[in-house]
Amino acid sequence: MTDQADVPESLGAPSGAGPLDELTGTVVDGVRIEAPFQPADTPDPFGRLWTPHRMVYIGGQNKPADDSAAQCPFCAAPGRSDTDALIVHRGESAYVLMNLYPYNTGHLLICPYRHVSDWTEATEAERADIGRLTARAMEVVRAVSHPHGFNLGMNQGQVAGAGIAAHLHQHVVPRWTGDANFMPIIGKTKPVPQLLGDQRDQLAAAWDTAPTGLDADRPVGPNH
Ligand SMILES: [Zn+2]
Repeated sequence: MTDQADVPESLGAPSGAGPLDELTGTVVDGVRIEAPFQPADTPDPFGRLWTPHRMVYIGGQNKPADDSAAQCPFCAAPGRSDTDALIVHRGESAYVLMNLYPYNTGHLLICPYRHVSDWTEATEAERADIGRLTARAMEVVRAVSHPHGFNLGMNQGQVAGAGIAAHLHQHVVPRWTGDANFMPIIGKTKPVPQLLGDQRDQLAAAWDTAPTGLDADRPVGPNH
């Protein structure tokens, strides 16, 4: 997260840094950094998080030009293959896909096939299907990756945080104890340790076999 602009010509401590101490690190803007500041070509103890899939988000390539169905990624996805569109399961009036911009590993979206934006516009059948698929998605994610909890929800309208406000979608976000750390606050970045395609494969494979109800936390597979 450090770029060239943060490295002064002297390769000394960054501007605004406090006194450098080899043992306790340095203080930048009142925040103590454990490792001392080092020149850009020196190996340091920090891990690197590579999230190239976020470039499409940063670059805005995937942002629809308008609210029409023709521009809508949730209308286009069912026309592509499951692996291509990261679709986990297709229901009767709604389907389940991986969120391209996940807040956590296994972040799923449940979308109706129809291009409607508001929960009040969904038919009874769509609401029932979205509800059923949401519950099944929780069971499947529980069986595959054992989260400690979930956030479920719909953002209605751009002002409420909907990225694709024109097409209704229910978020299913698995949560683990301690998963909310400094990264989103400091770096506006969420670390996601597993590639979306691999997550999709695992969840799709478990969709028909994962235990139902409260037994869903049991591991899945022929040996269990
Ligand atoms: Zn749509």
